[in-house]
Amino acid sequence: MTERKRAFITGITGQDGFYLAEFLLNKGYEVGGFVRSSSTGHLGNVERLRGDIRFFRGDLGDERSIEAAISEFIPDEIYNLGAEAAPAESFKRKVYTADINALGAIRVFESTLRLRSRGHDVRVYQASSSEMYGEPKEIPQDENTPFKPNNPYGTQKHMAHDNARILREGDDKLFVSCGILFNHESPRRGPQYVTRKVSIAVACIENKVKNPPLNEEGVPIVTRDWKLHMGNLHPKRDWGYAPLYVPAMWSMLQQDEPDVYVIATGETHTIEELVDIAFRHVGRDWKDHVVKDPRFIRPLETGPLCGNPAKAREKLGWEYDYPFEKLVKTMVDSDLALFS
Ligand code: NAP
Repeated sequence: MTERKRAFITGITGQDGFYLAEFLLNKGYEVGGFVRSSSTGHLGNVERLRGDIRFFRGDLGDERSIEAAISEFIPDEIYNLGAEAAPAESFKRKVYTADINALGAIRVFESTLRLRSRGHDVRVYQASSSEMYGEPKEIPQDENTPFKPNNPYGTQKHMAHDNARILREGDDKLFVSCGILFNHESPRRGPQYVTRKVSIAVACIENKVKNPPLNEEGVPIVTRDWKLHMGNLHPKRDWGYAPLYVPAMWSMLQQDEPDVYVIATGETHTIEELVDIAFRHVGRDWKDHVVKDPRFIRPLETGPLCGNPAKAREKLGWEYDYPFEKLVKTMVDSDLALFS
């Protein structure tokens, strides 16, 4: 009998962590992941998979916990998805963002090297981000577009990305592949991200929900007079559907050589288009509900983001087919059922 492959996922409780864990379990992997030491036992998105996953208490800020988990689980593949993942929030938590997104990744790489030195063949996926491009001059962006991030999140992802390159190209020859993923969304997205905030708001307004969830400022996403407070509506993003992005992560680790790949739809839309589709889906006009609020405007904007996934298509055979309008409607429909 062949042994099951083992995959360890940091950030398993997040949106991508859930879809990736489900995908790998379906492929027959044994899956392990971090539950943060600070958490009270709630498993977030992976609650449903509780019995199928081996959890380790740990934190990307704590080197010993990373080392303990990796040396005990002995994974064949490590997916480093854990991060302070909200770019807007990273402006308020710069030191923490650096510790988790940059140093946390380096801690994972170091533990991987130590595992390898004990004779285990191990491959790493590093979750890089389109936020590393900042305000790019080239449209669309690909693997060769220069990086000039416009927020602490992107800066620290860039640092991890460069460290991965050094380990890949230098004497270490570590198998570490980076996915430069553009925004990807789903009903499992956290409410601090703009797409989910909009879908929750539409559902709460439509269903007249009395106690909507709180936003990142700690106040209800929808006010008592059924308004949604938003920042700048003009930034352009390349938004895809998250469940279709995780197979690309896995595929990057099945190649002969480690590399860097852009994963994106190749289409770009404004936040205004997002709110328009979401409110129109329930027969409403976004202008009756959306209020511009300076608290939600980033100190420095990113974009226009529009990725070119040609390399992933050619080398990984990755295909994407989930139109933007369908994505927005999927999220609104899910929240209409959730907040009823
Ligand atoms: P997410 O839903 O916000 O999940 C973030 C995950 O990181 C959660 O599991 C969270 O754990 C964990 N985490 C946060 N701080 C941690 C720490 N100190 N130690 C260990 N784990 C920690 O994000 P996502 O959308 O799944 O994104 C996954 C990865 O892809 C992230 O690295 C993100 O930056 C990157 N990425 C995402 C996108 C996107 O559009 N989704 C695009 C490009 C790159 P808790 O549940 O305990 O908070």
